[in-house]
Amino acid sequence: MRIFKFGGASVKDADAVKNVASIIKLEKEKQLLIVISAMGKSTNLLECIVDDWYNGRDTLKKHYDELKSFHLNIVNELIQDEHNPIYNDIENLLFELECLIEKTPDRDIEFDFYYDQIVSYGEFLSTKIVSNYLLSAKIKNKWVDARNFILTDDNHRNAKVNWEETEKVIKSKLVPFLEKNIVITQGFIGKSMSNHNTTLGREGSDYSAAIFAYCTDSKNLTIWKDVDGVLTADPKLFPDATLIETLSYNQTIELAYYGASVIHPKTMQPLKAKKIELKVKSFVDSSRKGTVVREAS
Ligand code: ASP
Ligand code: MG
Repeated sequence: MRIFKFGGASVKDADAVKNVASIIKLEKEKQLLIVISAMGKSTNLLECIVDDWYNGRDTLKKHYDELKSFHLNIVNELIQDEHNPIYNDIENLLFELECLIEKTPDRDIEFDFYYDQIVSYGEFLSTKIVSNYLLSAKIKNKWVDARNFILTDDNHRNAKVNWEETEKVIKSKLVPFLEKNIVITQGFIGKSMSNHNTTLGREGSDYSAAIFAYCTDSKNLTIWKDVDGVLTADPKLFPDATLIETLSYNQTIELAYYGASVIHPKTMQPLKAKKIELKVKSFVDSSRKGTVVREAS
């Protein structure tokens, strides 16, 4: 069993989604779980939406319209057949969100609770689009709701994983399903024991992928990035930065600790605990080697 994670930049527009499909098409192994985050900068836009709504700002409609047209434009470019179920799925999700922000927020309920209910739509929209596009490109897959599996406390916006329950439900319900299918699911989101959406903190999809890798006893996790792998410095600031081919778990944790924005810091612990190999590879050119993180030999 293997896990792939694609972040916002890898699904930022229609061409990017087509590129993701071409990477998945190369995979021979069907037992693959694909964790995807929200498209491009749509999490930032959703943060504006929840903030506008909770604080009664008149930019709400403008931001919502922007979110809607951003996703519909991508769908229109990817899938021309207007009878394709994606149109219904996306319109339903947007409609749900519209109804949510039509209500008046209850000021006795904390902002962070509402944040998780609203911002999680970015991941639902992106995974529905990618899953349906893959189907239309003849790549069989099943869309799965990550909230059934990533079970957390109710510390909204920075929820802590309930490892025992999460591992139990992943092993009993997701693993048998994964044995026969390519599965698409959301990063970043989970569900509290009181049945509400939670999120794991910004950029938390790497962590989601590591949780799935841990609980499925996967051999490896591949995080697809817009850079060649882990580099010696930020290539935007230092064009001479070179690729680091192998790293240990501890070296990678240290890099994250010193602020290298390669991998979300919480990601490494579950991987290290079960010695799951992490590959960081370029979605721009998947033939490149990338970086491998594993136990130091
Ligand atoms: N979409 C979320 C964010 O932008 C999670 C992620 O991208 O990892 O923070
Ligand atoms: Mg993101």
